[in-house]
Amino acid sequence: MRKKVIAANWKLYKTPKETRDFFLAFLPHVQGHTRDEIVVCPPFVDIFAAVVAVQASDIAIGIGAQDLYWRSEGAFTGEVSAPMLRGAGCTHVIIGHSERRQHFGETDDSVNAKLKSALLAGLVPIVCVGEVIEEREAGLTEEVLRRQCTRAFAEIAAEDARPITVAYEPVWAIGTGRTATPELAAEAHRVIRSEAAKAFGQTAAAQLRILYGGSVKPENAAALMAEEEIDGALVGGASLDPKSFAAIVKYQG
Ligand code: PEP
Repeated sequence: MRKKVIAANWKLYKTPKETRDFFLAFLPHVQGHTRDEIVVCPPFVDIFAAVVAVQASDIAIGIGAQDLYWRSEGAFTGEVSAPMLRGAGCTHVIIGHSERRQHFGETDDSVNAKLKSALLAGLVPIVCVGEVIEEREAGLTEEVLRRQCTRAFAEIAAEDARPITVAYEPVWAIGTGRTATPELAAEAHRVIRSEAAKAFGQTAAAQLRILYGGSVKPENAAALMAEEEIDGALVGGASLDPKSFAAIVKYQG
């Protein structure tokens, strides 16, 4: 049985003060909740506030970044590396989100480089894959997912792959209010799992957690989480409000 992960992606929202306010309101809602793992990925400048807020509580919540650079250090102005994130108290990092692929030139190869550096630093990577609407309508979803996974997983040894988490995020469902049906998501998750099996073997693939992302809300969380192939959620918009994110975390199966 794979433990589910409910992760928040705050994108470009919240200041450090708003981060502190979020946790003040959120933590009491999830006190004693141990069914699933909870992760919050704020902007870089909010990581310190988030780590302090969580450490001051007795609730296990992972804090993640939304991106990283694959070099550890050097003349790379504006970048943040995996060891720096670890040093700042991060446990997780999102890699290859579709917004980074779309607006910031992220490629399958940079995803692979970032994945390797995250693993080396001991971070839990949440690798995002997913098709755009044109690819789905052209019947290319499987091909796109296979390509994204093969390239992301390239040259990573099975024994190093254990922490990898994948988020299937159909781009047409992100921030649109259009959610994939649990069946459609499960179909995509099986493709991803079969690529993981090719790269890392059957045992590792069976343990791989594959989250669904794309307009997850308190109203649809339970139906999505009931699907056996869905090992959690990556939540954007609905994670910004403490009550709404808590309601997703505590979906009733
Ligand atoms: C995301 O940002 O990863 C995401 C899934 O966003 P939303 O939940 O707003 O669709």
